[in-house]
Amino acid sequence: PHPTPTFAMSVDERTYIMVKPDGVQRGLVGNIIGRFEQRGFKLIALKLVHATPEHLEKHYADLKGKAFFPSLIQYMASGPVVAMVWQGLDAVKTGRAMLGTTNPLQSSPGQYSFAYGTIRGDFALAVGRNICHGSDSVESAEKEIGLWFPEGIVQYTHDQAKWIFE
Ligand code: UDP
Ligand code: MG
Repeated sequence: PHPTPTFAMSVDERTYIMVKPDGVQRGLVGNIIGRFEQRGFKLIALKLVHATPEHLEKHYADLKGKAFFPSLIQYMASGPVVAMVWQGLDAVKTGRAMLGTTNPLQSSPGQYSFAYGTIRGDFALAVGRNICHGSDSVESAEKEIGLWFPEGIVQYTHDQAKWIFE
């Protein structure tokens, strides 16, 4: 008999993923989207937006007071970002794992090809230019989705789901 799981993983879990201005400028949007598609996640929201400092201060409200906060806001407001919501099994934790560590120097790159490591480990070196964001909990994911997509999210059936989940 299998032990009772102590937590439930949801197939419908949503996470907020964002390609930062350096990721957009460096032409990494397609690669990052491709990784989430390839893993089997369902894309449920996507837009290019040049965010205001005020909006970004709300997104990073938890970090207000940190020494790097002003430069973080300046960096994030320096160009458009790609805001996305991806849905699927354990999306928040898996999304973070796909990103890699906050400091890209600590993330190992792919061994055989640039496509097989983490996003930050494959494409970045500096913590202040780490090219992507991913929600760190289900609660922050829902908060960030509300902040970046106040217009709401398109509903549709992901026809691949029956081949990805039992
Ligand atoms: N950051 C930075 N210097 C630091 C720590 C963080 O510039 O010492 C930036 C970095 O871009 C990071 C963002 O602030 O992605 C948010 O920090 P957090 O600790 O939430 O990291 P994340 O959740 O993005 O991995
Ligand atoms: Mg964070």
